[in-house]
Amino acid sequence: MAKVNEFFGINVFGDSVMKERLPKETYEILKSTIKEGKSLDSSIADTVAEAMKEWAIEKGATHYTHWFQPLTGITAEKHDSFITPTDDGHILMEFSGKELIKGEPDASSFPSGGLRATFEARGYTAWDPSSYAFIKDKTLCIPTAFCSFSGEALDQKTPLLRSMEAINKQALRVVKALGYKDVKRTNTTVGPEQEYFLVDKELYDKRPDLIYCGRTLIGSMPPKGQEMDDHYFGVLKPRVAEFMRELDNELWKLGVLAKTEHNEAAPAQHELAPIFTTTNIAADHNQLTMEFMKKTALSKGLVCLLHEKPYEGVNGSGKHNNWSISTDTGVNFLKAGKNPFENKLFLVTLAAVIEAVDKHQDLLRIAVATAGNDHRLGGNEAPPAIISIFLGEDLTDLLDSIANGVHYDALKREKMKMGTDVIPEFKKDNADRNRTSPFAFTGNKFEFRMLGSASSISDTNVMLNTMVADVFCDYAERLENAKDIDAEVNNIVKDCITNHKRIIFNGDGYSKEWEKEAKKRGLLNLSSTVDALPLLKTKENIALFERHGVLGRAEIDSRVDIILENYSKIIHIEALTLISMMNRDVIPAITAYANTLCEAVNNKNVIGVDNSVEYELLSRLTAANREIFTLTSSLKNAVASAERSADTFEKASEYRNNILSIMSDIRKYADSAESVMPNDYWPYPTYGDLLFKI
Ligand code: ADP
Ligand code: MG
Repeated sequence: MAKVNEFFGINVFGDSVMKERLPKETYEILKSTIKEGKSLDSSIADTVAEAMKEWAIEKGATHYTHWFQPLTGITAEKHDSFITPTDDGHILMEFSGKELIKGEPDASSFPSGGLRATFEARGYTAWDPSSYAFIKDKTLCIPTAFCSFSGEALDQKTPLLRSMEAINKQALRVVKALGYKDVKRTNTTVGPEQEYFLVDKELYDKRPDLIYCGRTLIGSMPPKGQEMDDHYFGVLKPRVAEFMRELDNELWKLGVLAKTEHNEAAPAQHELAPIFTTTNIAADHNQLTMEFMKKTALSKGLVCLLHEKPYEGVNGSGKHNNWSISTDTGVNFLKAGKNPFENKLFLVTLAAVIEAVDKHQDLLRIAVATAGNDHRLGGNEAPPAIISIFLGEDLTDLLDSIANGVHYDALKREKMKMGTDVIPEFKKDNADRNRTSPFAFTGNKFEFRMLGSASSISDTNVMLNTMVADVFCDYAERLENAKDIDAEVNNIVKDCITNHKRIIFNGDGYSKEWEKEAKKRGLLNLSSTVDALPLLKTKENIALFERHGVLGRAEIDSRVDIILENYSKIIHIEALTLISMMNRDVIPAITAYANTLCEAVNNKNVIGVDNSVEYELLSRLTAANREIFTLTSSLKNAVASAERSADTFEKASEYRNNILSIMSDIRKYADSAESVMPNDYWPYPTYGDLLFKI
């Protein structure tokens, strides 16, 4: 087998290919476009397109597509072939600069929340030269943004790019004010750790809930769950190891920096973490990672479940968004270094993140709001829906001491007296207390852990970038006007701690006491998508996004609409699936087994043997069946009523308030029936089968 360095990135039109294949001048222009995040100089587009096409055709590509991320959360592509007929009946393989830069997909089938109707009938896609083109399935894929003709964002990438510009603008002011003279550009960086489940394809095919909803709607717990903790970092099963190997290879060919793969807490749960990179590339790569996880699994007779909560009672899946920001000269804003007390950039950035997170808890919660993730937030393994920041004791002490005007040396002496070392470097803390925090400082970056496994990382980073940009803007103003920079940095930290300390919490984020304490501190606890989403439309939030040119009012309105609509649609499908499973499989199965029991009761009655067990089982099961039958028909009515509601918010509220609870009642009875029914009467593979037979 070839060595990794021989095939890493072979399917990417990346820097080295560009350098090799483009005229020097064109290459230089393109490179500076990419570096400075500018839009492409159209005069070089034809040359770039020609080189790209030649390269792609040599690699066997026949088609090209503008690859984009509509608000459905997955990627979309419309394939066109390079073929153009000539007058003499031959064909030419053509691809022009115009086709590279701009495409016009038939946008009518993508959600726009009314945007396209209000503005223009159609949308267009535009090349994002900062994310490299690549080949997959014999198709040249060109990463693009997707907008309406009047420029409103219809996708995830556009606001992400805008937010990167917004934070760059303010971060540059901050670094300049702090004396970093040669910095031309700053970039936010992200490393998203992706969790997922694998399940055997044959078993999957027997579960309509997995097929239609990506999660189980019923299923009683097997005797063994994850309590033994023997899965985490355990030895990989051969089939899983093979899957991971192939997945790595596929991703490496696409230049995705897949790095660590290991088991997760639950049986059949795993994680893939890439090496971090620039945010928009990380976002594109994460989409590709999810796509290839599904594809590669199928080729091994497995199915990859990206749903946040495929199994009740078992750990859910998230996506840890590791976030930082660095300069083009290689300085990481969040690297404390040997002397954090004197690292002004570090202190200012830390303060900015703390202030931003406290002020905009709502935005972080909104960024992760989906029907799937609601099952996870507040569950016992994941961060609760309360946002707080973990800094660790050392860092908290450090900020406190600055806020209290205690000098570095004094703290050092104090600490030495207590026999502890002074915080020279903040090591990543693996302690459990840290793992329960939704937003943790982990060494040289912040790790936001609330994001769901199936979501794009875009929204989360749009929020993070914009809210930190906003605070940076204030700080930059202060630093630019300061007579004494050192004193101003201290003032910034002091003000931050004085006003925003409530968001810092180093204790157990899963405990009941924390929920009470958080309430006392006035922190938000938005337990569902329906509670969170409307807050995106507050005056303050609209002003924030407009101030930094990230989203306009109409774009925000449309997003809220789309997300709520999506929420309702998902629960609608789940409810219909559950109704059909009950009516067609579960009720008949219980009836069939009840029949058998009935015969036993009668037969034993005739010969006068004790039939009390059969009788007892029979009455329990028929009672459960009665409940399931009644609840299923209530569910049907509740769905019909929700579907009649014309307002998106009202509809989503009905789904949340009425439908989910009936579904969980049905589940209770179905699960209790399952736990006493023989295997050959139960219509579906059990949790035990799904989780342990791989
Ligand atoms: P853990 O599971 O303990 O959180 P991992 O090593 O699995 O740790 O994941 C850490 C992630 O953080 C990796 O994707 C890594 O590349 C990323 N990361 C490290 N430094 C930075 C940084 N400066 N900016 C963004 N992400 C980073
Ligand atoms: Mg992590």
